[in-house]
Amino acid sequence: MQLSDEHEALRATVEEFAQKEVAPVIGEYYIKEKFPYDLVAQMGEMGLFGLPVPEEYDGMGGDYVALCVALEELGRVDQSVAITLEAGVSLGIMPLLRFGSDEQKGRWLPDLATGRHLGGFGLTEAGGGSDAGATRTTAKLDGDHWVINGTKAFITNSGTDITSLVTVTAVTDKQSDGKKEISAILVPSGTPGFTVAPSYSKVGWNASDTHELSFDDVRVPAENLVGTRGRGYAQFLSILDEGRVAIAALSTGAAQGCVDESLRYAREREAFGHAIGSYQGIQFKIAEMEARTVCARLAWHDAAEKMAAGQPFKKEAAVAKLVSSNAAMDNARDATQIFGGYGFMNEYPVARHYRDSKILEIGEGTSEVQKILIARHLGM
Ligand SMILES: Cc1cc2nc3c(=O)[nH]c(=O)nc-3n(C[C@H](O)[C@H](O)[C@H](O)COP(=O)(O)OP(=O)(O)OC[C@H]3O[C@@H](n4cnc5c(N)ncnc54)[C@H](O)[C@@H]3O)c2cc1C
Repeated sequence: MQLSDEHEALRATVEEFAQKEVAPVIGEYYIKEKFPYDLVAQMGEMGLFGLPVPEEYDGMGGDYVALCVALEELGRVDQSVAITLEAGVSLGIMPLLRFGSDEQKGRWLPDLATGRHLGGFGLTEAGGGSDAGATRTTAKLDGDHWVINGTKAFITNSGTDITSLVTVTAVTDKQSDGKKEISAILVPSGTPGFTVAPSYSKVGWNASDTHELSFDDVRVPAENLVGTRGRGYAQFLSILDEGRVAIAALSTGAAQGCVDESLRYAREREAFGHAIGSYQGIQFKIAEMEARTVCARLAWHDAAEKMAAGQPFKKEAAVAKLVSSNAAMDNARDATQIFGGYGFMNEYPVARHYRDSKILEIGEGTSEVQKILIARHLGM
């Protein structure tokens, strides 16, 4: 896929922002495990949260491919910042944009699209993420209110000072075939009974925001149902298809960042009287890293092209997520090796990529789940 002139201009703008504004400061946020509010505000002002949101909701009126282009450039420099944008749009905004009522869109989207507020999506529970249909959280109608009880695990952007809402999946009834009826319901931050646990201590993505959430007789108006009652799970699966392309773009950026850093370091660092980049053992590593990155980019471009053309892209999204997250993890391991001891120091970008890239193989559908989806599309 050839980037359009608009997408290329956006890519260059985000590249400059990532290199000039994010790169110099993010290491300290990461080490202190602080959320980078000032960078999020800048991304909001740049319109990044509103890229695929129509202008009537204060968005940029662009498309989802634009979001992916931005994510690749951010992921190249730092994954915490990139995932804050990815989750803010793909999990916070898209369920409302795709399935919300006009009233919900008018009320919530302008603040989300401008980055003044963040939204989260709570699907995963302690009892299971891949098997999302195993949801135990319940929502029962009591007059004109839903009463929600349960817990959600690992929810991104759910506990910042600017988080305005979390949309959660909950069992709202039993279907005629005995299966659970799962619906999506919007819960505003601060609703009584809605508790956000302290931040997790994570291996990576340390400047991003992740919490366990609990709901104890949380009452929200019946009109906070997002989309169609009983379609919450199906709605979320379609949101995840797009989200996989976004994560694939972010992962490609991470893989590229490892190539960038390794190339630079291999030219500078000397051992046995020569730059380590003059040794074929290092050159082969970087050549493999480059090959993985190119394949990852081709894969997300392929999925994005089909998505933008309105063609089926489920399999392509799964392939892109699988290939690119593997590329990020493999490149992070090789880049850390090239950096030697410095690669193990948190202040170095490759160390952050080493810690961060593992979750790319887990979040928004594990690699095994991607393989299940691909095999299903092959008729297995
Ligand atoms: C930092 C972070 C942020 C996150 N943000 C969010 C968020 O914002 N919203 C949200 O809802 N969730 C979020 N998650 C949750 C994430 O999506 C889940 O962790 C992920 O989907 C995997 O679910 P699980 O952890 O329950 O693992 P499990 O589903 O229990 O899987 C455990 C292992 O079993 C494998 N497995 C499961 N089923 C099969 C099978 N049929 N065949 C073969 N292997 C199988 C899996 O691939 C995995 O290797 C986040 C997680 C993290 C760590």
